[in-house]
Amino acid sequence: MPVTKKKTAAKKSNTIKLKFDTSWSYDPAPESKSAATIKPRYDLFINGEWQKPAGNKYFATINPANEEKLSEVAEANTADVDKAVRAARNAYEKYWKKMPAKERAKYVFRIARMVQEKARELAIIETLDGGKPIRESRDFDVPTAANHFFYYAGWADKLEYAFPNRRTEPLGVAGQIIPWNFPLLMAAWKIAPAISTGNTVVLKTAETTPLTALKLAEIIEEADLPPGVVNIITGAGETGAAIVNHPDVNKIAFTGSTDVGKIIQRAVAGTDKKVTLELGGKAANIIFEDAPIDQAVEGVINGIYFNQGHVCCAGSRLYVQESVAKQVIRKLKDRMESLIVGDPLDKNTDIGAINSRSQLETIQKYVKIGKQEGAEMYESSCSLPRKGFWCRPTLFTNVAQSNRIAQEEIFGPVLSILTFRTDDEVIEKANNSPYGLSAGVWTDKGSKIFNMTKRMRAGVIWANTFNKFDPSSPFGGYKESGFGREGGLHGLSAYVSLKV
Ligand code: ADP
Repeated sequence: MPVTKKKTAAKKSNTIKLKFDTSWSYDPAPESKSAATIKPRYDLFINGEWQKPAGNKYFATINPANEEKLSEVAEANTADVDKAVRAARNAYEKYWKKMPAKERAKYVFRIARMVQEKARELAIIETLDGGKPIRESRDFDVPTAANHFFYYAGWADKLEYAFPNRRTEPLGVAGQIIPWNFPLLMAAWKIAPAISTGNTVVLKTAETTPLTALKLAEIIEEADLPPGVVNIITGAGETGAAIVNHPDVNKIAFTGSTDVGKIIQRAVAGTDKKVTLELGGKAANIIFEDAPIDQAVEGVINGIYFNQGHVCCAGSRLYVQESVAKQVIRKLKDRMESLIVGDPLDKNTDIGAINSRSQLETIQKYVKIGKQEGAEMYESSCSLPRKGFWCRPTLFTNVAQSNRIAQEEIFGPVLSILTFRTDDEVIEKANNSPYGLSAGVWTDKGSKIFNMTKRMRAGVIWANTFNKFDPSSPFGGYKESGFGREGGLHGLSAYVSLKV
């Protein structure tokens, strides 16, 4: 639509003018739901078949943008988990670990291509089930998920080059537990390296966003992957715990909260299970006075508001050098006013729905804490839909380093802004966090980037950009953000044992 294109260009080039120009707005441009098929009920995908849960219990998954029920999914209990682990073990011993690597790769390539073929449907379902804008699921989640399958399929028969002079052996059965913020991408992120290296999988989705992983199970079924190589089950925390505690699981890969990460760490202590944990974050995004300010402001907006702040690597702490703080805050507020909050299926939407009522309550709790701590709150003046779970883009200025809104993970579109004067001061402040997942540095000077990245304790540090992902780059944290890396060669090594 040419009109929309013109408006998009105007939106990018002149945000200040937009703030005062109320004479126009975007026409709705919703993606059609009809391109997606969601069944009214999903069973468990075990041993290549859709199996009823032993307890015959199901729970609803809803659209957080309007609270309408989308479908219901099975609640797997300990008996179901045991069945899935047995299927995975059988597939591992009988054929998957013995299959020539290049044959395994063909299956993974096939899955990658099918994810691409069904990209539109997957994006729509991701947005319906999770609340994130279709622009994000269409342009980031789904293509990046396909890329992970392609990337690891490529490695399957080249492991001798990944680990020169070493022989690799798969670990066996991998239990994988994923969160609700990137349901399909997290499934791809975990399944692709596991099966490419010869392991088999039992994966559990998050309770609020099971649908795209179940669609992936349909793709896996259609791709004719041998039964039991990938088992996808649904359920809540107890189902996850049953996977973690199952004696025949060799490896646990978990992405989620630090609290549950600690429970898992305790549960596997004293066993010979291998573990990788990707947990919370409180990323410091640092703007120096010599940074390209407009670019940095857009990077901050991208880092915290797009995706509703539902990313563990969200740039939720902003450190601005004192000399440019006023300018940056003014530009941020102007840009916040132009963000479109609303129907996640609309292609113009910047900020969608909060994933669940309980997540919205957590965000609201922190906003209240921020005010009580004496920080100054600013939120965009946009109106919010009446049904569903919504939060305006919000920022806090006058924040102290010790404030809870500067220390704890909020997981919502809420930014805490602090200022600094010197490099040493900002490094100390940025590192003063229980987390260490990601960070960002905005400056014109390459030497400053190297100085900062060397001294900051974060697994991923972006320079003059933010939230950029690639299957070949490792991702993971320090301290309470977990350990182990996913992505790239590091992601491969988490699924093999190396022999001489
Ligand atoms: P979030 O706060 O992001 O929802 P959680 O850590 O609560 O993160 O959930 C992440 C995943 O961990 C979900 O799939 C959830 O069902 C699962 N989970 C929750 N509790 C446990 C547990 N005790 N053991 C294993 N998995 C769990």
